[in-house]
Amino acid sequence: MKPTELEERYGARNYAPLDIVIDRAEGVWVWDIDGRRYLDCLAAYSAVNQGHCHPRIVEALIRQSRKVAVTSRAFHNAELGAFFRDVCELTGFERALPMNTGAEAVETAIKLARKWAYTRKGVPSGEAEILAFANNFHGRTTTIVGFSSEPQYREGFGPFTPGFELLPFGDASAARAAVGPNTAAVLVEPIQGEGGIVVPPDGFLAELREVCSERDALLIVDEIQSGLGRTGRMFAHEHDGIRPDVMLLGKALSGGLYPVSVVVADAEIMDVFQPGDHGSTYGGNPVGAAVARAALAVLQDERLVENSARLGEYALGRLRGVRSPLVREVRGRGLWIGIELHESAGGARPYCEKLATQGLLCKETHDHVIRFAPPLVIGREELDWALDRIEEVLQP
Ligand SMILES: *Cc1c(COP(=O)(O)O)cnc(C)c1O
Repeated sequence: MKPTELEERYGARNYAPLDIVIDRAEGVWVWDIDGRRYLDCLAAYSAVNQGHCHPRIVEALIRQSRKVAVTSRAFHNAELGAFFRDVCELTGFERALPMNTGAEAVETAIKLARKWAYTRKGVPSGEAEILAFANNFHGRTTTIVGFSSEPQYREGFGPFTPGFELLPFGDASAARAAVGPNTAAVLVEPIQGEGGIVVPPDGFLAELREVCSERDALLIVDEIQSGLGRTGRMFAHEHDGIRPDVMLLGKALSGGLYPVSVVVADAEIMDVFQPGDHGSTYGGNPVGAAVARAALAVLQDERLVENSARLGEYALGRLRGVRSPLVREVRGRGLWIGIELHESAGGARPYCEKLATQGLLCKETHDHVIRFAPPLVIGREELDWALDRIEEVLQP
């Protein structure tokens, strides 16, 4: 059987992938099983900001796998301390808690905020509330989908964890009205990625920061997709000049080689966790730690944040200049751009399919948005080639 037939025959049907079978990849390029080459403008939802199979990260993975891969946290391992140091130095926080997937980092932050609320803020037992935003994406666990506003993410999966409330994204006055004595935290994506690259009004995060400080609630920013250079800053919340209380990283933290996520916070918050409160068998294992250190070093040494800012501004300028009756809005920051089409265009998917036949891979989000998010190692010529293809496909 062909690979796709095997997938169909044996795989669960929870995805509907484009009809491309990727066989290998390098940098911004991927090749299918027939040897056709594509420019990857999804970058595995920003997991491969450093480009596919970056030699330095691959090397770290191989070297560490030969030495020791998993120890569990029942013991110390020789890689973990340096990983914590690198993450804390990069983020400016005092403590790091490693997990594997993004959703686990979000779950960890929810537990952290609740325990902080009960032990530090004095919220009555069982009453802690977490505020999140409509149109959010924080992962797929039952607790997380319970506070999604996307019907398909929820329907059929209840009952859900109580203690969450949704506010309109970008509306700081709604947050000001909602944060109260039982609010443990406000959980926010600086830019909503899966929601359609939705950029909030300037100052939105700054105002959330102010409300949280005034009312003694934690500001948790989910930078799992927006962080690590994607928006032209190391972290997207820097655009608003704020410092959150808790930050979540994942995806590009490992350069796409292996799932690594982390929660960072200062000691006064993180230290509500005591031995036995939380954990993960694979979280903080030596391979993950070595891979993440290499992935962070590549981001910095290759100045990928600067590249994202410079080429992102250029790409946004070109796409905003496109005159097409199909396009409703072009928005984004850095190399993270959403092209929202009018309903009359018939959805973004056919345009992504057409782009794929021309050698450019991207993925629609929220039906009407073409998401453009190439690896941050992309060069100007490759970018121009991609933008030419996109401009073409937008001409009816
Ligand atoms: C992808 C994503 C997650 C979930 O990460 P997984 O590794 O898929 O569990 C959480 N939050 C945001 C903002 C994301 O983009």
